[in-house]
Amino acid sequence: MGLIVQKYGGTSVGSPARIKNIADRISRKRDEGNQLVVVVSAMGDTTDELIGLARNVSKNPSHREMDMLLTAGERISMALLSMALADRGVPAISFTGSQTGIITDGSHRSARIKKILGDRVRKAIAEKKVAIVAGFQGVSETKEITTLGRGGSDTTAVALASALGAESCEIYTDVDGVFSADPRVVAVAKLWPCVSHDVMVEMATRGAGVLHPRSVELAKQYDVPLIVLNSLSEKLGTKVVSMKGMEEFNVTGVTADKGKILVTVELMRPTVLSALFQCSSESHLTIVSPIFSEGVIKFFTDAESEMEWRKHFEELKAQGFLKSSTIDPLLVPVSVVGNRFSQDGGALNTVIDILSKEEIPVSIGVASALAITVAVPRTKAEDAVKVLHRQLVEIGER
Ligand code: ASP
Ligand code: MG
Repeated sequence: MGLIVQKYGGTSVGSPARIKNIADRISRKRDEGNQLVVVVSAMGDTTDELIGLARNVSKNPSHREMDMLLTAGERISMALLSMALADRGVPAISFTGSQTGIITDGSHRSARIKKILGDRVRKAIAEKKVAIVAGFQGVSETKEITTLGRGGSDTTAVALASALGAESCEIYTDVDGVFSADPRVVAVAKLWPCVSHDVMVEMATRGAGVLHPRSVELAKQYDVPLIVLNSLSEKLGTKVVSMKGMEEFNVTGVTADKGKILVTVELMRPTVLSALFQCSSESHLTIVSPIFSEGVIKFFTDAESEMEWRKHFEELKAQGFLKSSTIDPLLVPVSVVGNRFSQDGGALNTVIDILSKEEIPVSIGVASALAITVAVPRTKAEDAVKVLHRQLVEIGER
C-alpha cells in the first residue's frame, strides 16, 4: 500500500464546495488502496485577508504575532476537510504544524524546517486514518509558532513526504500543471508533461506561481517524486524530474513576477556588500537577479518585504555603509527560463531585441545559464510575456 502526500492549495480549498470535492477525491484515492497524508493551505485569500486585518490594528505588527495570526488560516481548512471526510465515512484527523512536530528555526515569517518528528502522523497512518496537516507552519525549539514564508505549504508537503518516506508528493493547484507561460495571459501556452528540477526552481523563483522554489530544491535534494496536478480535473499534470533526457527543451517558460519590486543601492565601498547580504540571509529576504557594478547593486525582492528592507537600509546608512537606496515598485522582472542559455551568449540580446521591437522599454537585463531576466514597466509585463512567448516558444525562432 503506497503512502502518498497530497497538498491542496488555497483555491483548491477555497469554498465548502471545493472542500467537499477534495474530500471525494481523497476518499476515491483511499479506496484504491493508498494511504494518504494531506497538507492544506488556507482557504482562498484568507492569508491576505488576515494580513489586511493586522494592518488595520497595527502599523508595524511583530513577526511573532503575525505568525500566530496567519497559522489560523491553515487551521480552518484542515479542520473543515477532516469534517468533510468524516461525513464520507473516511476516518481522518487534523494536526497543526506544531502537533505534527515540524521543528523550524526561530525566524518568524520565514522559518526553515530543521526536522520533522511526525509521530502523531505516523500513528494516524498506522490506524488507517487520513492525516491532515496544516501547511506553511511549524514550531521552533523554544516552542514559538512559526511560518515558512508565503506559499510555504508546498515546502511542508515535500518535507513531510521525505520524512515519511512517501512514494510521491502530489501538489494540487487550479491549473493543469506547469505551462510555458501563465495560461490566463497566453491562451496557447504549452503544458509540459515533465520539467527538470533546476529549470523548475528557476521558473518558481521568477514568478511561475505553481510551486514554492524551496519545495523543488527539497524534492531534488531528498529525491522526492514531485508532481503538479489540477484539483478540478483528471489530467496527468507535470512531473518534476531529474535533468536527464531534458536537453531537447530550449525555452521552458516565460514568466512575469508582479509580486517583486526593484531595489537599487549605492554602497560607500564595495566591501560593504557583505553587510547587505547578511541582512538578506538573516532575515530571509529574497534577492533575485542581482547585478553589481561600480559600487551600485540592483536586485529584485518581494514587494511585501519593502518595509523590512527600508528598515535595514536606514540602519546601514546610520552605520556609514550606504550612500543611497531606492525602491522602484513600477519595474517588475520578466524572465525567459530554459536550458541552454550558457551556450548562447546572444540570448540576452535576443530578449532585449524582441521587446524593443514592441516598444517595451528594458531597464536592466541579467543572463545566467538557466534564465534571462529583464526589468520592464509593471504595466507592460503581460505584453512582454505575450511577445516573448510568441517569438521564443510558439515560433521557436532561436
Ligand atoms: N496560506 C499561505 C500563503 O498564502 C501558505 C500557502 O498558501 O502555501 O502564503
Ligand atoms: Mg495561500
